[in-house]
Amino acid sequence: MIVSVAGGKGGIGKTLVAASLALANSPLQFLDCDVEEPNGRIFLRARVRKAEPVSVAVPRFRRWKGEPRPEAAEFCRYGALAAVGEELLVFPELCVGCGGCFLLCPDGTLEPVEYRAGTVKQAVARSGVGFVAGELRVGSQRTTEVIRAVKDRREPGRDTVIDCPPGCGRPVMEAIRGSDFCLLVTEPTPFGLHDLQGSRELLEILGVPGGVVINRSGTGYGGIHDWCREEDIPILEEIPFDRKLAAAAARGQTLPDLDPDWTPRLKQLWEAVKRL
Ligand code: SF4
Repeated sequence: MIVSVAGGKGGIGKTLVAASLALANSPLQFLDCDVEEPNGRIFLRARVRKAEPVSVAVPRFRRWKGEPRPEAAEFCRYGALAAVGEELLVFPELCVGCGGCFLLCPDGTLEPVEYRAGTVKQAVARSGVGFVAGELRVGSQRTTEVIRAVKDRREPGRDTVIDCPPGCGRPVMEAIRGSDFCLLVTEPTPFGLHDLQGSRELLEILGVPGGVVINRSGTGYGGIHDWCREEDIPILEEIPFDRKLAAAAARGQTLPDLDPDWTPRLKQLWEAVKRL
């Protein structure tokens, strides 16, 4: 079973939930796909054994073959090309790899060259959790390629937890794609509800079933419960709003580290997800 853990914004407790779930139900594999800010290793005390580069192809200008086509620069909506005099300048950090400029320019004008987008790290984590994390190179935009490289290292047949990036954009879609179930972590505030509604739409597009985990529960706002009831979305767990817990998470501790009673609760959560 592949369970992704997502949420509309950063700092909502996705990694805390994902790492706690992985520890309580180990041995399984943990894929840290939050490649712009990978911090799962802190919670899981992962020791890196192997690091591999993730490279992508970007265009390099050689010389115009045939009629110059400076309009290729205007075609690039990402600003990765600029026509300057006789040359086409390429800014590889802005290229998203759509391939359009290769189609527009005469054959041989551009050649593909490798560009380092990030790194994939494999590690051994505590309690036998198999750990893989992606790290985007500073300045690179190729988030989805690094996420794909992490997911390519999934061990077939092994239960897997995926820690997703925040938001509802392309990176989180790439991380959730192919999951059997997605846990949406939210907080009981109007902002939490707004982000949850966006995440729900995303799951509908991807055709992935989902359930909700409310973090910092007990603040008195009932909007999340009302909406989940109306939309028939199960609330599978609630983590209380507790200063001790927040301080422990900030130190890189998981829920079972703080209180062993969380282990059976997280096992039950896993079983509930399996049933759904
Ligand atoms: S491959 Fe696409 S994004 Fe990259 S430079 Fe060419 S047109 Fe721009």
